[in-house]
Amino acid sequence: MKYLTVLVLLLAACSKPSSTSTPQQIPMSQLPSVDPEAILAHTKVLSSDEFEGRGPGTKGEELTVTYLVDQFKKIGLKPGNTDGTYVQKVPLVGITPAPAPLVFEKAGRRQTLRWKDDVVAWTKHVADSASINRSELVFVGYGIVAPEFNWDDYKGVDVKGKTLVMLVNDPPVADATNASELDPRVFGGKAMTYYGRWTYKYEIGAQKGAAGVLIVHETVPAGYPFEVVQAKTTEQFDLVTPDKNMGRANVEGWITLDRAKALMQMAGQDFDGLKKEAARRDFKPVPLGVTASMTVRNTLRTIDSQNVVARLDGSDPARRDEYVVYTAHWDHLGIGPEVNGDRIYNGAKDNAIGTAGLLELARAFTKVSPAPKRSILFLSVTAEEQGLLGSQYYSVTPIYPLRKTLANINMDGLNVHGPTKDLTLIGYGASDLDDYAKAAAAEQGRVIRPDPETEKGFYYRSDHFNFAKQGVPALDPDEGVEFVGKPADYGKQVRDDYTEHDYHKPSDVIRADWDLAGAVEDLRVFFAVGYRVAQADKFPEWKPGNEFKAIREEMLNNGN
Ligand SMILES: [Zn+2]
Repeated sequence: MKYLTVLVLLLAACSKPSSTSTPQQIPMSQLPSVDPEAILAHTKVLSSDEFEGRGPGTKGEELTVTYLVDQFKKIGLKPGNTDGTYVQKVPLVGITPAPAPLVFEKAGRRQTLRWKDDVVAWTKHVADSASINRSELVFVGYGIVAPEFNWDDYKGVDVKGKTLVMLVNDPPVADATNASELDPRVFGGKAMTYYGRWTYKYEIGAQKGAAGVLIVHETVPAGYPFEVVQAKTTEQFDLVTPDKNMGRANVEGWITLDRAKALMQMAGQDFDGLKKEAARRDFKPVPLGVTASMTVRNTLRTIDSQNVVARLDGSDPARRDEYVVYTAHWDHLGIGPEVNGDRIYNGAKDNAIGTAGLLELARAFTKVSPAPKRSILFLSVTAEEQGLLGSQYYSVTPIYPLRKTLANINMDGLNVHGPTKDLTLIGYGASDLDDYAKAAAAEQGRVIRPDPETEKGFYYRSDHFNFAKQGVPALDPDEGVEFVGKPADYGKQVRDDYTEHDYHKPSDVIRADWDLAGAVEDLRVFFAVGYRVAQADKFPEWKPGNEFKAIREEMLNNGN
């Protein structure tokens, strides 16, 4: 080591000063170490029974936020909020809808859909009630506006005040050269794009000024049975926006496939025929000549939760106001229904360990030399489990402008079963960040594995997605599956075992057999990606064809 230092000093002394615009990319092997003992120690505290499963708005939140702030201070990071604190307040509202029927009417004929059996609906309005009253129903196919695919299901038709009936998922557009396959150039082929997610459907409906949005539930395209939708009849959390969510449609919901078919019959239409038409670019909205009425009454509960945020200032004065953001959600499910005599949902893997990784990355970043040119933000968000709400709040109310935010790297769970030969990247090929990750993994002699189930749209299901949605390139890494020295099916086995027995259950706790050697290697990749982006001459970009590329370019060009 000593010889190397001398040699470097000699070289530095002899050579001409290097251009400051050249990124100094130090090899992976020279990055500061990441300490597995520290990760385990933080995880132990965060997932302890004392922290009560880290439910937002509970004593568990108080303890967690205090712990994280103390740790960031100890590491030497600055308050991440410009108000001089380490927190960003996140106002949440819990909304419980009361059961109510949905009524379709046409020329004196009625169909009444029963709450929960036939329809699950709610309002995001922070109000006692919201309704649609004899609102005209319009079938809008998949309800999508996607300029990059030259796709617009509305064709300029005014749907203000109407109630839209939409299909879930992306339109299945057949490949022109092989009709048995989906065209990979339109809506990602087999992969699900954001346009296919149910959350998009309600957002576009609101943008179009619709009074109501009803999605037709179909098990295969949705990826889950109607029971999953029925679970939404309990309290659901949302952000309280300045307009109290009044910009959303009055009523949002799902109806069963059977009721959708009956509705189309009442309208003199054929569901299967309409569905076929909806997969075509020249589809036009179909007014159904039927009205919908429903009144949703709410029970409301407001909660003030918090994101925790710490900052490491960039070393280059010209780059200091540009940011790389690491995220990991601190929250879990809190105290809930008893399972095997236990009511505390400790969430050790989900996501005490990711939060621990965030702290350890923050510490390592203070040790790297040269220090990062750009600033690094460590953001531990709340209410991921309630629908990615803490990260959504940051992304729509950012502390630092998103056009100056180069990248988001998110950690949700870390590998606890030892070293792997691979690292999974969900939505692989989305942005230049994937290339950074690939290069870093290659330096460890490891490979990148693309998301094995692109059709399930996992890229849209964790906190990084809120950054992506606003245009910021975002990396969504997941554990590898090929374990060093283990049988080929070991990765799948431990994964399935966790999903079946521990995921979102009180039994998600630290195990005696945990081996964090693989987590350390993964964290070093995340470190290298963020560090190298912080040093680079150029902002990372979305790859051509990505659905967030246009938003990013507009943001960078218009400078807002
Ligand atoms: Zn999680």
